[in-house]
Amino acid sequence: MKSTMIEDTIFHKIVRKEIPSDIVYEDDEVLIFKDINPKAPTHLLLIAKKEEDFVSSIIDLTEETAHVPLMLIRKAQKFAKEKGIDGYKLTFHVGEGGGQLVFYLHLHLMSQQEL
Ligand code: 5GP
Repeated sequence: MKSTMIEDTIFHKIVRKEIPSDIVYEDDEVLIFKDINPKAPTHLLLIAKKEEDFVSSIIDLTEETAHVPLMLIRKAQKFAKEKGIDGYKLTFHVGEGGGQLVFYLHLHLMSQQEL
C-alpha cells in the first residue's frame, strides 16, 4: 500500500486550500508557505503538490519519490535567490525521534534575513 493512503495531514489540507496558509510561492510542483510558528525571521516550509510526489518522511522515500527532496531543495535555492536571501538553513526533520511532527515531507527554509 502506498503511504499516500495512510492518512490526511494538515499539509494535505493546506495543499487543497481547505485551510488557509500564508503562501509566498506556488507552481505546479511546489507550495512554499510561512511556518505558523516561526523560529527565524524567515521560516518557510516547502511541500510537493503532486499526489504522486507525496511521501510522509525521508524515512519512507522510495525509488518513485527519491527525486522529491532534491526538487524541494532546488525550489528553495531558486526562491531564495530571487528574494535576495543569500544565507539560510535547509532542514528535514526525520521521524518522531528527529522532531518531525507533520508526516508530509517538508523542507524548512530558515534565514536571519527578512523576506
Ligand atoms: P516538523 O517538526 O514536522 O518538521 O515541522 C512542522 C512545522 O509545521 C512546524 O514548524 C510547525 O510550526 C508547522 N505547522 C504546523 N501546523 C501548521 C499549520 O497549520 N500551518 C502552518 N503554516 N504551519 C504549520
